[in-house]
Amino acid sequence: MSQPQPACLSDPTEQASELDVSSFTGPTGHAVLDHKGRLLSANSQLAELLGHAPPATGTLDPFKLAIDDRSATELAHALAEADVTHLDITFTDGARRHVQLGRLQACRRLLLVTRAGETIASNDRIEQDALTGLANRHRLNEALSGLEAERALRQSRSGTNAVDEGKTAILLIDIDHFKQINDTLGHAIGDSLLRLVSGRLRRVTRERDDLIRIGGDEFLLILPADESSDDAEKLADRIAELLSRPFLVDGQQINIGVSIGIAVFDDATADGPTLLQHADLALQQAKLTGRNRACSFEPQMAQQAMRRRALEIDMRRAMALQQFRLVYQPQVDLHSGRLVGFEALLRWEHPERGMVSPAEFIPIAEETGEIRRIGAWVILQACQQASFWPDGLSVAVNVSPLQFDDGKLLQHVRTALSRSGLDPERLEVEVTEGLLFHNPEAALEQLTELRELRVDIAMDDFGTGYASLSHLSRFPFTKVKIDQSFVRGAVDDRTQALVDCIIGLGNSLGMKTLAEGVETPEQYQRLQDSGCDAVQGYLVSRPMEADSIADFLIHDTGQLPAGDAAA
Ligand code: C2E
Ligand code: MG
Ligand code: MG
Repeated sequence: MSQPQPACLSDPTEQASELDVSSFTGPTGHAVLDHKGRLLSANSQLAELLGHAPPATGTLDPFKLAIDDRSATELAHALAEADVTHLDITFTDGARRHVQLGRLQACRRLLLVTRAGETIASNDRIEQDALTGLANRHRLNEALSGLEAERALRQSRSGTNAVDEGKTAILLIDIDHFKQINDTLGHAIGDSLLRLVSGRLRRVTRERDDLIRIGGDEFLLILPADESSDDAEKLADRIAELLSRPFLVDGQQINIGVSIGIAVFDDATADGPTLLQHADLALQQAKLTGRNRACSFEPQMAQQAMRRRALEIDMRRAMALQQFRLVYQPQVDLHSGRLVGFEALLRWEHPERGMVSPAEFIPIAEETGEIRRIGAWVILQACQQASFWPDGLSVAVNVSPLQFDDGKLLQHVRTALSRSGLDPERLEVEVTEGLLFHNPEAALEQLTELRELRVDIAMDDFGTGYASLSHLSRFPFTKVKIDQSFVRGAVDDRTQALVDCIIGLGNSLGMKTLAEGVETPEQYQRLQDSGCDAVQGYLVSRPMEADSIADFLIHDTGQLPAGDAAA
């Protein structure tokens, strides 16, 4: 390869910080060349891309066998240039590959070659997202490989593996419920919103941060190594705050939340793709813990994700292997002190892991869609078991928002009622407020039909999320369940005022109120004084096995003070 003569002064300090890319993993071929085109180090992916044995260190023209003369001249010129250059080079096998050349030090060039299988026609390799004008995912691999190179360089500079400067951090930003916005307001509005979101993201980022739109509503922000992870967290909070301010699209006000996963490129992170995976795990965690928040990656998240995947696989067989069962927790009327029914709670007895909590496996079942099969079984099983109880006792069944999606809920309820012979008035369906946001129209229609069957409907865990008072009046609820967080532990004046308010509201809307998580006689008394209708909690009993109910009915009822007696 003949090359123009660059002005390159030998810098002794650079000799100590030679970058070795041979251990670089990831899909991209890496090479470090000097200004004359002499190979200083390369990783094995590069050899694969070149289609021949790895060129030896010091080889003057390491691409000789793989590229044609014209490309060789082009590359030589590029090597002499100081700045980042992108080239599409025709290799002798006929394929065009994308080569990015960057300057590491005055006399060192870093070469990144994309994997042959990923080679794309050059006009497809437009690295700008047409909608937002941000970089798009074609830039992603490159950016991640660049991070690897940058980290290795810093490590070699510091002479040890310890990185004494700040560390590169990435932020993976995802708009909560974006699909819903697209579905309900239309794609044109969704697109405008994405443009506005990217505009606001640009405002909080600086020139040297890399901002990439990597998917529909997913953005990646790369913060260079001069910032600490603390700064990344602060920035994530600022982004969340900025994006939570209302957007005005086509005269409509839209409010969104974002979930953000943060990952830091530390010594324990193998490579760029692993870094991205960490950010993704942190993002999943942010979503699982209520969305509209930022989470930083922690190593145990990888184990949790593995456990989730293992549970996901085992759950598919759990039903056939009869590992599910229902336990029942009593509900007591505060006016009479008498037992009025039970809530059915699902249990999974895993052969190796023991009892898996529904708080853990229901979200997984919802994600995989398995909840539909399990949910149908729960309704049937609860109705059949309740049909053996004395007439006055009802059974409450938890139903996931996803069970409203396929329009089969009504059918499952009807089948369960007819097969068990249970009076519909003795069945209560508990829904969480997620339903009211997930698909409100379908929810309203099916809840109304359930009411027509004379099945009761309870709003579960009221007060913990976004459901407002107006939601209570718009949907045909017959009961509000006050969440245990308002009941358990020390209850301050404000919380008590809130509980009083929910009870008052329930009364005025003609709904029953039931407080969950009642553990002490004081809590029981306070709720009774507030005019609450019913309670459920460890004070009365923990959830019990179906075959313990008969015993419970004989021995344990009538022990709690009735409202009149207490007054
Ligand atoms: P939930 O419907 O709000 O059920 C109440 C949860 O609080 C139950 O936990 C119950 O055991 C617990 N609990 C009751 N009284 C007390 C108390 O006094 N103190 C304390 N600390 N806890 C109390 P569990 O059984 O672990 O269920 C957790 C959640 O899992 C349920 O919350 C419900 O959202 C969901 N779940 C349970 N079974 C099903 C089901 O069959 N289908 C669906 N979709 N979700 C279910
Ligand atoms: Mg419940
Ligand atoms: Mg609840």
